[in-house]
Amino acid sequence: MTVPPRPSILSIDPYVGGESKIPGVNRIIKLSSNEGAFGPPPAAIEAIVQAAREAHRYPDGNAKALREAIGARFGLDPARIICGNGSDELITLLCTAYAGEGSEVIMSAYGFMMYDITGRASGARVLKVAEVPAPGGGMQADIDGMLAAVGPRTRIVFLTNPNNPTGTLLPNAELARLRAGLRDDILLVLDSAYAEYVTAPGYDPGEALVDAAGNTIMLRTFSKIFGLGGMRVGWGYAAPDIIDVLNRVRGPFNVAGASQAAAVAALAEPGWVEKSVAHNTEWRGKVAAALTAAGHTVWPSETNFLLIDFGSPEGAKAADAKLKARGLIVRGMGGYGLPGCLRITIGTAEECQMVIDSFAHG
Ligand code: PMP
Repeated sequence: MTVPPRPSILSIDPYVGGESKIPGVNRIIKLSSNEGAFGPPPAAIEAIVQAAREAHRYPDGNAKALREAIGARFGLDPARIICGNGSDELITLLCTAYAGEGSEVIMSAYGFMMYDITGRASGARVLKVAEVPAPGGGMQADIDGMLAAVGPRTRIVFLTNPNNPTGTLLPNAELARLRAGLRDDILLVLDSAYAEYVTAPGYDPGEALVDAAGNTIMLRTFSKIFGLGGMRVGWGYAAPDIIDVLNRVRGPFNVAGASQAAAVAALAEPGWVEKSVAHNTEWRGKVAAALTAAGHTVWPSETNFLLIDFGSPEGAKAADAKLKARGLIVRGMGGYGLPGCLRITIGTAEECQMVIDSFAHG
């Protein structure tokens, strides 16, 4: 290597997303990245076309209209919101600003992979805390274990709820217990990318915790239920001092104009979330029931995907082959340390039926 990077960089494995091709198969159906089942909201497509006419202009660097639309929708103060080029960018900004050489970052073993990548890229040591069996099946973050992992160098604790890739949901009280057990100088990042899909009563995506404790940020995204993964829009809600810090490290025009416009339009699309949640709940139940009936272990999910345990890496491989034969691409979980599992996104009714049919005859 002619110009060596900082030593920690070469220990990072690049993020590998879901596959997008199956050799020899023309029509592929991608159920590997937890994208919204219905595509982009029609109003968002229109907004992107309109915004294209202004593509020679830099976008609003402060994403004012979008922050106001988010604030109005979720009842939040726009001044305490920051928008990012996907919530991925916000995770990077958090690590840049709060982690770095000599620090430690804590996440749960099956937490979202980008915490590991961006934590390490910043120079931090990333501690992955083993998970524990969830009461309803599957695995969940071990709050006691995460608290026990805290040391003098800990700067950030990442937690996704409900979690990707496991789908499991922790009760609010557990999140509050985590926050209460952390020193005030440790930032809790509560990643609620799948918040809209949750049907469990009393779920708090994080607003209440952010309001109760200053040193917490809630992350959200337009990539899932709002169907705008390709436009790259995420947002965070936190105390003003955290928003101020993130604004210091972000690029000046970090969210494209068409993306801002699309997100504003998506929020205004009538009935979009309700329709998507109803569809997701119905088909998540149907796919889970079919896979359970076929003898596989389906982890409880409050998200738009299911984690299915096929008992062994060979079992997962065989299931993957069955799906691929019908053009269905799902996500292998070897990279997450769950090689016996596959993660399947809840797609359209037709796509879900194809998943069900794949397992109908053993
Ligand atoms: N957090 C979690 C838990 C996710 O699953 C994802 C997307 N896979 C992200 C963040 C990143 O989302 P975005 O598209 O907003 O960058």
